[in-house]
Parts: sequence; C-alpha cells; structure tokens
Amino acid sequence: VAGRADLHSHTTASDGTLRPAEHVRWAAAQDGLAAIAVTDHDTIDGLTEAEAAAPEAGITLVPGVELSAEVPNAEVHVLGYYFDPHDGPLVDLLRRMREGRRLRAERAVSQLVRLGLTRVSVERVLKLGGETIGRPHLAAHLVELGYALSLRDAFDRYLARGRPGYVPRPKLTPEEAIRAILEAEGVPVLAHPGLIGNEAWVRRAVEAGVRGLEAYHTDHSPAQAAGYARQAREAGLIWTGGSDTHGPAGGRTVLPGSTAVPVEVVEQLQEASAYLRRA
Ligand SMILES: [Zn+2]
Ligand SMILES: [Zn+2]
Repeated sequence: VAGRADLHSHTTASDGTLRPAEHVRWAAAQDGLAAIAVTDHDTIDGLTEAEAAAPEAGITLVPGVELSAEVPNAEVHVLGYYFDPHDGPLVDLLRRMREGRRLRAERAVSQLVRLGLTRVSVERVLKLGGETIGRPHLAAHLVELGYALSLRDAFDRYLARGRPGYVPRPKLTPEEAIRAILEAEGVPVLAHPGLIGNEAWVRRAVEAGVRGLEAYHTDHSPAQAAGYARQAREAGLIWTGGSDTHGPAGGRTVLPGSTAVPVEVVEQLQEASAYLRRA
C-alpha cells in the first residue's frame, strides 16, 4: 500500500471547524494522503459520519479519539485507535467527561452571575460549546456580551486558575485514560510527547502501557521527532505522527497530511488492536 497517513485531526465533534464528512473530503483532496484519523477530544461522536464519508472520498478512515488527562502542571493527551466503539468502560468514561464539562460550565456561570455578570447565560454557553464545551466557549460568550475585551482578557480576568470564574475540572489521570482505551481493545498512543514539557511523564505513560509514541507532530522540532521515534523503536513501541489539524482556520491552517507517516503505521495499529482482542 502506498501513501501516507495523518493520524491526528479534529472535526466539529470537538473543536475543529469542519463537519466530519467535509473534513474527510478535505483530507482526501490532499496529495498522497491515503489515510486520515479523526481523533476528537474526549468524544467519538464524529466517527460514524466520518466513516460513512470515507469510501466515496477515496481515503481510509482510522477511527480515533484524544483523551485529555491531567498531571500536576501539565496536560497529557492520549490518542486511542481501533477501539470497540460499543465498549462499556470507554463509552462510560467519555459520557462522564462530557457531563463533567457541562457541570463545570454551569458552576462557572453561576459564579460569574453572583459576581454581577448577570447576562451570562448557561444555555448560550452550551450552544457555543456543543459536545465538548470548555472555557474557550465561556470566554467567547463573555466577549460577545462585552464583559471582556478579548478571549485573553476573559481568561485573565475571570477564567484562569485563581480567577473568580475558575472551576477546577474533574481530573482524569493518564493511567485511567490508557486503561480505558486498552479495555476497549484500542491502541493507546501518547500524543505529542514533546509538548508535555517533562520527560518523566513520557516514561510514566510508557510504563502505564501506551503502545506508541506520536513522534511526528506539527509542533515537534525535527530533533524531537527523531528522538521520540528512536525512543519508541528502542522500547518496542509504534511511532506515529499526525498534523493535529483543526480544519481551515483564519490565521493558521494546518493542512491534513502536512505531518504524516507511512501508511504501514496504520497496519501496525490494526495489528496491535487485533492482538489486544485475542489477548
Ligand atoms: Zn493534544
Ligand atoms: Zn489534537
């Protein structure tokens, strides 16, 4: 099989700008791109539409997800591929995370209303956020109401840690994220290890059972990519890569396939998932 695979991208199911079907067609239009993974944040809701659109678009759809876990002073993102979408623990975890995000937004809104920002509306924030509601949606709402001058200003005054509209979010550990994917017979891969900022967390994710490292990523330097690819090979892990595109965006559009790996990596992920199913 010839061609390249982009194993990391986002659609409107989380914070991307294109609907899953459009996103898949956009990826298919890129030269030499044979496979695209849809890896939305904490949701698999875009996969059905993406999978349906892929054959006609002429591209292989790799089903994925990107779970956000937290460690002190950093976020650890864990990608999962070829999991059973009907599996209990992973689906339950995603549902709990979605409910956690909604509760967090509701609490933040009531704190802001008590502060005197009385026009803040939880319905509006939920509408802006859809399935993966987060602080950026609340920030956008504060800006549209004139309570903040910019998204940055909304965070600085109200939403950042220590500010009056801040609500801590329910914590998922990297171990829980990795376990949930493994339990669903999916292949956990540590996303953009170079962005975590602490190699100890990379080692901890490897110990917790990730089957791969995302060596190639838009925000990795060539030296980081080479280093993580080597680390993966030495540990017997799959090295993966992807653009992490969020769709066409005004300022900085990252094209699907602008960071990609040989399509053989897709077969390695499928084999790893098949192995987990047999185990
Ligand atoms: Zn990420
Ligand atoms: Zn991502």
